[in-house]
Amino acid sequence: MKVTALLLNIALLVATFCTPLQQSYAQSNRDLVNREIADSDEFFKEVTRKPQPKRDNKARVEAMLKKMTLEEKVGQMTQLTMGMFTSGTNQDVKVDEVKLDKAVNKYGVGSFLNVSEQALTVDKWHELIGRIQEVSMKTRLKIPNIYGIDSIHGANYVQGATLFPQEIGMAATWNPALMQRAAEITAMETRAAAIPWSFSPVLDIGRQPLWARFWETFGEDPYLASVMGASFVRGLEGQDVSDEKHVAASLKHYMGYSLPLSGRDRTPAWIPENYLREYVMPPFAAAIKGGAHTVMINSAEINGIPGHANKKILTDMLHGEMKFDGFAVSDWEDIKKLVTFWKVAKDEKEATKMAVMAGIDMSMVPLDYSFADLLIQLVKEKQVPMTRIDEAVRRILKVKYDLGLFENPMPSAAARNNFGRPEYAQVSLQAARESMTLLKNDNNILPLAKNRKVLVTGPTADNLISLNNGWTWVWQGSEAALYPKDKMTIRAAIEQKVGKKNIEFVQGTSIERPANSPSNSTPTDINVEVDIKKAADEAKDADVVVLCLGEGSYTETPGNITDLTLPEPQLKLAEAVMASGKPVVLVLVEGRPRVISRIADRAQGILMAYNPSNEGGQAIADVLFGDYNPNGKLPFTYPRNPNNLITYDHKLFETEETTFGNAANKPQFEFGTGLSYTTYAYSNLRMNQTTIPMNGEITVSIDVKNTGARAGKETAILYLRDEVATLSPAGKRVKRFAKVYLEPNQTKTLMFKLNRDDFSFINTDNKPTVEAGDFTVMIGDQTGKFTLR
Ligand code: BGC
Repeated sequence: MKVTALLLNIALLVATFCTPLQQSYAQSNRDLVNREIADSDEFFKEVTRKPQPKRDNKARVEAMLKKMTLEEKVGQMTQLTMGMFTSGTNQDVKVDEVKLDKAVNKYGVGSFLNVSEQALTVDKWHELIGRIQEVSMKTRLKIPNIYGIDSIHGANYVQGATLFPQEIGMAATWNPALMQRAAEITAMETRAAAIPWSFSPVLDIGRQPLWARFWETFGEDPYLASVMGASFVRGLEGQDVSDEKHVAASLKHYMGYSLPLSGRDRTPAWIPENYLREYVMPPFAAAIKGGAHTVMINSAEINGIPGHANKKILTDMLHGEMKFDGFAVSDWEDIKKLVTFWKVAKDEKEATKMAVMAGIDMSMVPLDYSFADLLIQLVKEKQVPMTRIDEAVRRILKVKYDLGLFENPMPSAAARNNFGRPEYAQVSLQAARESMTLLKNDNNILPLAKNRKVLVTGPTADNLISLNNGWTWVWQGSEAALYPKDKMTIRAAIEQKVGKKNIEFVQGTSIERPANSPSNSTPTDINVEVDIKKAADEAKDADVVVLCLGEGSYTETPGNITDLTLPEPQLKLAEAVMASGKPVVLVLVEGRPRVISRIADRAQGILMAYNPSNEGGQAIADVLFGDYNPNGKLPFTYPRNPNNLITYDHKLFETEETTFGNAANKPQFEFGTGLSYTTYAYSNLRMNQTTIPMNGEITVSIDVKNTGARAGKETAILYLRDEVATLSPAGKRVKRFAKVYLEPNQTKTLMFKLNRDDFSFINTDNKPTVEAGDFTVMIGDQTGKFTLR
């Protein structure tokens, strides 16, 4: 714990000697980072409480709407990409006055998005957005522009921003306070660059591990994803989204995008409505309850209906049922794709009508003016009623007023003060550490002593790309030159622990991008053997091998794979170093669970690092060498075989031995797995009653004791099993969790309240229903039973 103590001291020093403003940053860091989650539900209630609006903008919206022409309204519904108002590339990108004039003055375009190729400096953002706003504020009605960006794991399109572990790693922390703080920093650094709107969080559920965006999710459990997602939104939007520290969120991709049957991005999903409501909708519903301002729509289709043409989902469920009062933006070019991909419309005009009538309020066109031209025609021909246009524009204007853009359209010098504060990196480090998930530790091979001779090898050992994955400085995260020079790879961080003389590094294999393919659209990485034999030889001279395997960087369609198995060159490298007989600790840096069954049994230690970002090298080394006691827990089920995929909430019989002697469907690692350097004992599970009425509430308590020699944090997960139900019940479902800090010998009593919502499931009429009968509560190795009457 030396490093932690040191950091704490530094934080204290900083707090003592700095200005009140600086102190308040440090204070916010400490408040959230050290906050204990004694009951996930209390935190959940807090982050889903919709903030009181600072002012009611209704009258202003209506007054503005009255003044607008059809063309001006349609302009507000149009979103174009950066190239539509700039020329030049990379850092030389500049406003092109002719293009900007056409967009803003001729078409009244109300929103832009994206970067040209790569992250820009804060100065550059101010220059570009400042000019957009100058021109916008000189239009007839002076309506400001709303710029949107993918701040996926930090303000990743702003040079020098603080980046955080990707969502899958944040889920592994089981720490929503940390998620909220990371999102607050993301918001501050995004708005410091004059961007008021982020296309995050991803609230798609991660139950299809083949999917290239699996790591952008909070994993397979809808409750965990709901708590983390709502915390992300609260961090982005705060209590007052109009202040200079916050941005509007965009919940995406509403909804069902993450469950392609084939596993490939943007391919069909088949989701019965009861399943949709049970597993897919809850994170969106929670974040909407918390007041999220926008949603982005599912680019794919479910049940044969493309996301952008699904009126039931876009209008009836979103606004009717969930009372969403923000706006829905399309995903990239998705109205056109109703024609070109999905073939539900014969031409773009029909597609435009279909999407707008289904509930799309703003089209991410984003490369031409077809949407505006066609929509104006459609209204003039009375194919789209003016009332629908007004409804969309009303929603968009409301968000612009809520963001304070009418009062403060221009980039703010004061907001810049919120960029790049040193204490932000501490939050990122804390998140990376809390995400580290120790999956295996035979004979306590870990933590390693710092005087051991270590061979570090493997394709993810010495690069920041794998630590970060996609949406890092460029879309695919693939440009090594753009990464900060002062952040440590795993190799560098280990060297700092053991000293130069105790570390040997051999590349082993590498992950390369195919030649002649532009960095922005590289297909799946190619794994190449480099010097496997050398690694095998060096292993013989080492005391221990730290073998860093996993993936490169990818997202969306370029990340499609045809096999979940870890690529052959990496398995070969593993087998070669394992043949040395020296203990091997496997570090997995990957965005989805690549199958490792061929080598897992022969690794003494396995550490799952996910994509922990730029402090990840440090966090991994801290765990490997015992300077940090790991406490992450797997937010998904790690499969043993590529064709044997299952989630933790499967039916009980699915993992039992069959009578035909077939091997049971046993995952490599169960959901919730996560070891520590100390031990915890659960005892004394008790309930305040064991027979309760259908509308009743039950209190479940449990004692958790640190029975080992080190202090640590433990996440207690409360599962509930409905023993018998009319729809075959899951073996268990997560209902609550707590994450607490325990000194050696310390015991804490946790208390959770469960109610009707927790006992219910969505029946085939697609309604929540509660049935009488027996339930089992499980926490750690403790169980209890109660009956609903
Ligand atoms: C992705 C979205 C993203 C948008 C804008 C799309 O290709 O699916 O997640 O927000 O691009 O960059």
